[in-house]
Amino acid sequence: MSHFINVILPIPLDKEFTYSINSSEAIFLKPGMRVAVQFGKSKVYAALVTQIHQNPPLVYEAKEIEHILDESPIVTLHQLELWSWISSYYMCTKGEVMRAALPTAFLLESETIILKNEKTHFDEALLKDDEFLIYEALQYQSLLRIQEIMSIINKKNVLPVIKRLIEKKVITVQEEIYEQYKPKLVRYIRLNVEYTKEESLRVLLESMTRAPKQREVLLHLFTLQAKTVKQIKVSELLKTSNSSTAVVRALIDKNILEEYHLQTDRVQYTGAVTSLTKELNAYQLKAFQEINNSFTTKDVCLLHGVTSSGKTEIYVQLIEKAIQEKKQVLYLLPEIALTTQLIARLQEYFGEQLTVYHSKYSVNERVEAWNNVKAGKSKAQVVIGARSAIFLPFTNLGLIIVDEEHENTFKQYDPAPRYHARDTAIVLAKMFESKVLLGSATPALETFYNANQKKYGFVKLTRRYGNVLMPEINLVDIKTKYRKKEMTGHFSDTLLEGINEALKEGEQVILFQNRRGYSPVIECNTCGHSPQCSNCDVSLTFHNYKNQLRCHYCGYYISMPQKCMACGSIDLTTKGFGTEQIERELKDLFPNHNIGRMDQDTTRGKHGYEKIINRFEDGDIDIMVGTQMLSKGLDFRNVSLVGVMNADNLLNFPDFRAHERSFQLMQQVAGRAGRTKKRGKVLIQTYNPFHQILQQVSVNDYEGMYTDQIEERYQYKYPPFYKTIKITGKHKDYNKVNKAMDWLGISLKNVFNENVLGPEFPPISRIRNQYHKNLIIKIPQKQSLYKTKEVIRRIHTSFKSIKEFSGVRIIINVDNY
Ligand code: ADP
Ligand code: ZN
Ligand code: ZN
Repeated sequence: MSHFINVILPIPLDKEFTYSINSSEAIFLKPGMRVAVQFGKSKVYAALVTQIHQNPPLVYEAKEIEHILDESPIVTLHQLELWSWISSYYMCTKGEVMRAALPTAFLLESETIILKNEKTHFDEALLKDDEFLIYEALQYQSLLRIQEIMSIINKKNVLPVIKRLIEKKVITVQEEIYEQYKPKLVRYIRLNVEYTKEESLRVLLESMTRAPKQREVLLHLFTLQAKTVKQIKVSELLKTSNSSTAVVRALIDKNILEEYHLQTDRVQYTGAVTSLTKELNAYQLKAFQEINNSFTTKDVCLLHGVTSSGKTEIYVQLIEKAIQEKKQVLYLLPEIALTTQLIARLQEYFGEQLTVYHSKYSVNERVEAWNNVKAGKSKAQVVIGARSAIFLPFTNLGLIIVDEEHENTFKQYDPAPRYHARDTAIVLAKMFESKVLLGSATPALETFYNANQKKYGFVKLTRRYGNVLMPEINLVDIKTKYRKKEMTGHFSDTLLEGINEALKEGEQVILFQNRRGYSPVIECNTCGHSPQCSNCDVSLTFHNYKNQLRCHYCGYYISMPQKCMACGSIDLTTKGFGTEQIERELKDLFPNHNIGRMDQDTTRGKHGYEKIINRFEDGDIDIMVGTQMLSKGLDFRNVSLVGVMNADNLLNFPDFRAHERSFQLMQQVAGRAGRTKKRGKVLIQTYNPFHQILQQVSVNDYEGMYTDQIEERYQYKYPPFYKTIKITGKHKDYNKVNKAMDWLGISLKNVFNENVLGPEFPPISRIRNQYHKNLIIKIPQKQSLYKTKEVIRRIHTSFKSIKEFSGVRIIINVDNY
């Protein structure tokens, strides 16, 4: 009887592949285990088993597997089910999901190694110089990797040389697969069992009078053992005995001490549980009970609580409850880097039980978190992480919290799978029959709609904790201010007054400007030329601090030219402003105060955010200027004024979500003001103070905003009434992408008629030398989503067979954000 397995390969291919196995392998293998298989000419991959069966593939002969990589499944059946859902819903391959889901250490890919060809002899004189260098290196080394060859011949493109050497039978190549995860081992030490008897120990110690240092170490070891029942690390012994490694080594060599190694986790929270969770106030308690009630009938609940209403403390209570029920909890956040404050707070409550799953963690650290979650260890009972944490191998999930659920960073933009973590979390929760709490002060329209439709439970928290009032929000009409000459730089007199007042009281100020750099456009006053990125269709942004012009799309930069690159005139001006310029103006306006800036340029490095947030918390900074990073749930005690430098560039963004987003962003930034005692103030500068959204922001009218926007969504056929799928074509040749997308547009319109928008070039149609052109397909509620996707797939398949369009990359984004 022959046996087969289906596997997912970590590459963007539509199908699962079938390989043959023998009968003992068939008994051993289970879905979720990895096998090494050959795919293509010589590449070897770690593939994931999804099925074991006896049906040979119809159109090809199944190859045998190379070998089995795991002793037990590393992926659970629930995960496989979730991957299937993601690949079908978001229209990507399972291989792409696998790539996103597994820590890279599990995604072994073979590496090409180069070996000497032992079978043949040849004339060294026939070799060219670079060929000879490789040949020579192989006389000393048994094998070479591609990287090494690059450095030997000092070239990037080494394949031609390798090819020639294979032809000349000098070398052979092989694929080698290797495991990246290395368990971290810690060295421990103990007394050899022989000396554990009192008598032999006495003899030993007496015999050691002439080795006082070694004797000293031994005595320290005993003290350590007396103090704790734990195993003793070599490093610990060295430290307490103040001894050298040589002394310990000597004791080991004499067989008096024994060393041994144990595996340990790299990330360990050493702090203990330091605070008790806070007692909820009456409003919080009521909300907490309402959430629990809602969970008795519904799986998902929206907690709509204004900024600083104490949502986090409610989450904490829900987590405690889940822990008591011995369930796992997933706490999803839009971004980890910006939430050190929150994580510190949770760590004080949950200590070791909290695991942070962070994309900045090393490969090994992530494997350990993965294993702990899979084993259901109490150590990882609560996992906090950004969107990719939904891929962890939960076994007993009871609760998912999606904090700041409205944030668009929950949607992965590139590469595939282009999934939305909030929506995927709801699917994940279903598999475990667990509950989902969505929390926000400014819920996504879609979520609020679902709550309105009673699909989700709904709980409201309208008061700030401690009865602090919501900040007072005023709009400042800068059009008039400019006319009346009441502006200093980009500051209205009203804003300056506000800042002065706050500073006088010893309070802090946050200023929001949604652009980094000094100014987004440089223009020549003589000829009107403004420097553009050579790879993208955008103006270069001037960065004063580095004296450079930089592209914010591709990273291209040049130093700031002295004169116009077109006409040579030295009369250059800047247009528009970014955080750097505001910082500069502030330094002149408030020379005696410390100004800080928080944007992508000042927060690089692993602890970039933390440093600047800490400085602000410590009162080391009086005024902080920043981009939307400042809106992300930060909890500062002493900020009494928040200023928005210019609201208009948010509102004018060409996107159907622009108004909703502007509202959310401004409400969130405003929410940083006056979080304790005194009522905070917010000043929003704008050319257009009568804009409906700004009016709604100024009176905290979420529901008014919702009613208007949902009406527009209905009118113009957008989510939640219609689903959208965006299709983007990319190619470096403008005409090619243009034709290709026109063809796709016509084919799709044949089926979906007026529900296809475009194709259209976006405002920035070239990025990194690739032209983009978009199509949007709108799907009415009564139209089958499944069938729609089938049609798109079919058309995409025909598209791929058209030679003229080869090389045009097609990107499908379901529920595009
Ligand atoms: P939100 O997440 O709704 O913006 P937070 O949970 O950050 O609000 O709470 C705002 C502030 O109020 C925090 O500093 C928090 O420590 C404090 N706070 C909230 N609830 C309580 C409580 N029950 N007891 C004491 N302090 C609380
Ligand atoms: Zn010029
Ligand atoms: Zn660019």
